[in-house]
This record gives sequence, C-alpha cells and structure tokens, in this order.
Amino acid sequence: MQLTNEQFDLLKNEFKTLKERSPFYAKKFADIDLTDVQTQADFEKLPFSEKDDLRAAYPLGLQAVPDEEVVRIHSSSGTTGTPVIIPYTQQDVTDWAIQFARCYETAGITNKDRIQITPGYGLWTAGIGFQLGAERLGAMAIPMGPGNTEKQLQMMQDLKSTVLGATSSYALLLAEEINQRGLRDKIYLRKGVIGSERWGDKMRARISNELGVEIFDIYGLTEVYGPGIGISCSEHAGMHVWSDYVYIEIIDPKTGEVLPDGETGELVLTTLRKQGAPLIRYRTHDLTRIIPGACKCAHGDKHPRIDTLVGRTDDMFKVKGCNMFPAQVEDVIAITDGASSEYQVMIENISGRDVLTVLFETALEGDAKKRCEEELAMIFKAKIGCTPDAVGVPMGELPRSEKKTKRIFDSRY
Ligand code: ZN
Repeated sequence: MQLTNEQFDLLKNEFKTLKERSPFYAKKFADIDLTDVQTQADFEKLPFSEKDDLRAAYPLGLQAVPDEEVVRIHSSSGTTGTPVIIPYTQQDVTDWAIQFARCYETAGITNKDRIQITPGYGLWTAGIGFQLGAERLGAMAIPMGPGNTEKQLQMMQDLKSTVLGATSSYALLLAEEINQRGLRDKIYLRKGVIGSERWGDKMRARISNELGVEIFDIYGLTEVYGPGIGISCSEHAGMHVWSDYVYIEIIDPKTGEVLPDGETGELVLTTLRKQGAPLIRYRTHDLTRIIPGACKCAHGDKHPRIDTLVGRTDDMFKVKGCNMFPAQVEDVIAITDGASSEYQVMIENISGRDVLTVLFETALEGDAKKRCEEELAMIFKAKIGCTPDAVGVPMGELPRSEKKTKRIFDSRY
C-alpha cells in the first residue's frame, strides 16, 4: 500500500519534531535523520516498533507531550508481564471519537439509536471507545460494561436498545440466553458492533440469526487509539481503516519485507496525527491482508480495507511437524456438517508423542455423532495435514467468556 500525498504530508509534519518530543523515538531513531525520509522507500527502511519496546518504556516513556497536555492514559490488557501505558491528549481523545463515530455511521447507526455497550471500561480502551463514538454521534449510550447478564437483558428490553456493542464471545452468550428464555420478540436490536477478534462465519451466523441483527466488525488496539480505527461496511467485504489517521502496511512476519496488496501477512500501523504517543511502523502481530481495489460502498478506495483477521503471528502452533493457525481449525469446524461453532484444541505430550484433540459442540448423538467426529478428523487431515482425535461434546459444554475465548490449550511447554 503506497502512502498517499496527504498521508506523507501528515507524516513529514509529524517527523519534524518527533525526536524532540518523544524520548522513545529519540532513542529508537538516534542514528536516523527523519528529514531524510522523502520517499516510500525511505519510509520502509525505518525500523519497526514492537510491543516489547513499548513495554520497556513503562510507565510513561512513550509520552511525547508535556504533562499538562496529557488528559488520560489507557493501558493494553497485557495478559503477561509489564503493561503498555498510552498517554492521550485532548486532541487524541477527540480524534478517537471522530473515528468511532465514523464507524457507527458506516454501520448505518444514527443519533436515534440506543447503543448498549458491554465491553469493559477503565484502563482498557474498549468500553470507553464505544461510548465516545456514541456521544459524538449523538446516539444514546447505555454504558453497561461486561457481565451481569440478567441486568443486561432487562435493560435491553426496557430501554429498547437498538445496537449491541460487544466481543463476539459475549454476543454469543447473550444470543443464547435470549434464545433460551424466548425473549427474541421483546428485544429491539437491529445492529451488532462486534470487536474484531478472529471468529468464524458459523459463530457470526449464529449471533446474527439468534439476535436478528446485522453484524459489523470493528477493529482497533489500545496502542493505536483503541477500537474504532476501522470497521466493516454494508458490503461486508473487509474492514475499512481510516486513512486520514492511520497508515497500514502488510509485512512478511519472518523477514519484515513489505508485501504487495492482496497477500496475507502481519499488519503494521503508523499513526499520522497522534500526539500523546505517536507510533511509527508498529507491528500488531495480527494476520490479515489488504483487499485490493475500491469498495462498492461510499468509502470507495478512500479508506483501504483489511480482510477478516486470520489470527496472530504468535498463535501459530506446531503439532506433529505441522504448522497451523486457529483460523484453519475454525475453517474445518465451519465445513463439518453437524459441528456447531464452539470448539477447543488440546495439545499434549504423552510419553514423548504429540497428541492433538479437537473438542467441538454438536447436537448429534450416538452413531450420527461418531460419523461427524470421523468426518471432522478427515477434513482436518485434508486441510491441515495431520489427524486429530475429534471428540463431539453436547451443546453448551465448552466455556464462554466475557472477554476473548481461549480455544487452543497447549500443555507441552
Ligand atoms: Zn465499504
């Protein structure tokens, strides 16, 4: 993806003072004169920024403005080790709101909508991003935060929420509850804005059918504003990323080489306007591709599209000499007749031998279940290259979570 003139101007403007303002980039680019960056090729020579670099700057080493300009911080949900702290200026908060409001508009949501927000608030950027966008749009935000399903369903009926903001796993949990309690006729949801963790078409279809909503995938990460830097549109063919705020590249995760549009690799983001903590060539570890060509929606080719995430570069796992991604397992589940959307992969080492077990939910029983297990194992072998033990379990058996659902359990290390 080529930098547009507009993007390059923003970047050059950012580069003028970046090293003066940011101790992080003063150090990182110590041997680089940023005024030398005049072409696409020059830009692509700049070193990447890594999550570990950001962690090493804990607590406030990323701050690139004086204290009096910082209005808040957020922190990435780091499951292990030191978190990353991102400072925001007032302008950063406004820019984030503008982007999130644009996401809602892209999804056909208006100031007449009532948006029930179930992602978490606080250090995490999720809930507050949904809220900022809703307020900017002029819609009614219903700031529930996660959990308390009883109350969620009550408010959803009483306030006649029309939009649900959620992670895919929590949206599924709510969909199942609504279904079980026969509440479908008492809810007014028409759209779902769902965090873009990797999820399969089957799960999407279930949420969409059981809630009766049109689903939009929202993209973002705390290091770069938060959710809202991109969303899918009514064409449902990839997510637009806002080109006036973020520049996107796809690289080969092993060599760091920039890949042509259309090829799958790691998404790398550069912020074009961020003040509190600008990021240059930040490696997201999300695997996707740039969809070539213009979208049929009103955005056309103004805002480029990335495809549904296929996983994380660090999610790749190797069993019996085979490399695989969770997305591939998901595809196998999706095309196996009788398998529902929920699954878990267990990898163990039993007396020096890798054992791969795929647990999946199914409504089938007896011989029909057995045939389904055999079929899944066969498709797995054909698509991925090795044969798992496939085990069907009753519907609802596998755990759901309010955050991201962990599906791969590797006990070998
Ligand atoms: Zn579009």
